[in-house]
Amino acid sequence: MPIALGIACENCGRLHLLNKAGAHPNIYAKVSSLGADMFGLNCNVCKMARSFHKSDLKPYTVSADAQVVGHADRGEYVLVNNSIRPASWVKTKS
Ligand SMILES: [Zn+2]
Repeated sequence: MPIALGIACENCGRLHLLNKAGAHPNIYAKVSSLGADMFGLNCNVCKMARSFHKSDLKPYTVSADAQVVGHADRGEYVLVNNSIRPASWVKTKS
């Protein structure tokens, strides 16, 4: 099972996965008074928007199909040990 870095929507449980270039169509770098490394997520399922810090991105075990399409739903992903996160997956470009 592949491991991908992602952020889960707290409202509907949809997990949004970054691709290996650190990109996702629903995730964008944010200019924020909270400081650098803030990102925004627009959930395409429930339409909720949220902000999160780079450190909120976690590695999840997902199916190969989920990694290809860039998302997984509740019950289709498992959080894995945070220490294996490859930092290079997260783009800090704004
Ligand atoms: Zn959602």
